[in-house]
Amino acid sequence: MSAHKIIIAIDGYSSCGKSTLAKALAVKLGYNYIDSGAMYRAITLYFLRNNVAMTNHAEVIEAISNINLSFVFNEHRQASDIYLNDENAEPYIRDMLVSDRVSEVAAIKEVRTFAVAQQQQMGKKKGIVMDGRDIGTTVFPDAELKLFMTADPEVRVMRRFKELYETNHAITIEEVRHNLELRDYIDTTREESPLRKAEDATLLDNSLMSREEQLEMVLEMVKDCATNKKQ
Ligand code: C5P
Repeated sequence: MSAHKIIIAIDGYSSCGKSTLAKALAVKLGYNYIDSGAMYRAITLYFLRNNVAMTNHAEVIEAISNINLSFVFNEHRQASDIYLNDENAEPYIRDMLVSDRVSEVAAIKEVRTFAVAQQQQMGKKKGIVMDGRDIGTTVFPDAELKLFMTADPEVRVMRRFKELYETNHAITIEEVRHNLELRDYIDTTREESPLRKAEDATLLDNSLMSREEQLEMVLEMVKDCATNKKQ
């Protein structure tokens, strides 16, 4: 693969398989994979643990000033774990308690300013795959490759349910469906950087595609990017 490093921005609805594709791309290309959703989830975890009133501007600002986020590569997962003030937050951030409030937290302007600044810093050296909701539109509007992923809503619900059921047998399909619908609604209608496809992003509907097919297709796009750059 080309030595010319680029930025790959992957956006889309909840549970479209963005992180699976992003992680596989990063491993193949020797890039850094950054899960921007993990940052909003870790911030939400902090807010919940510390009873931060999400509608209280002063409390939100104070809370943000006490949050330090970092990523540490985990060999076992072949991806980075997110650390919240020196604690590995990875085991807690996918809990339903966090999932149910994260979109509300991610809609707060100050939260986004805080997270986006760090994300942009991480992209300075390129060679990065980042997935989220506003990566191609706000975080890296000049990314060389932008993808917007989507999939049939029921396919997404079942994928997410199976994933969560592995660690939580009490979870129901209805709960998962409600959570995805709620997050998609908040993410697409919020004022700050709402989820939308960047004009120059390629739409990728993976309802009927295997992981391998997607990876192959996107690796071809990466190759094309590098070739176009040299011309
Ligand atoms: O990617 P994931 O589903 O873990 O993201 C959790 C939530 O974080 C999303 O539903 C969305 O509200 C928020 N998010 C965001 N912008 C990003 C990434 C995630 O608003 N770039």
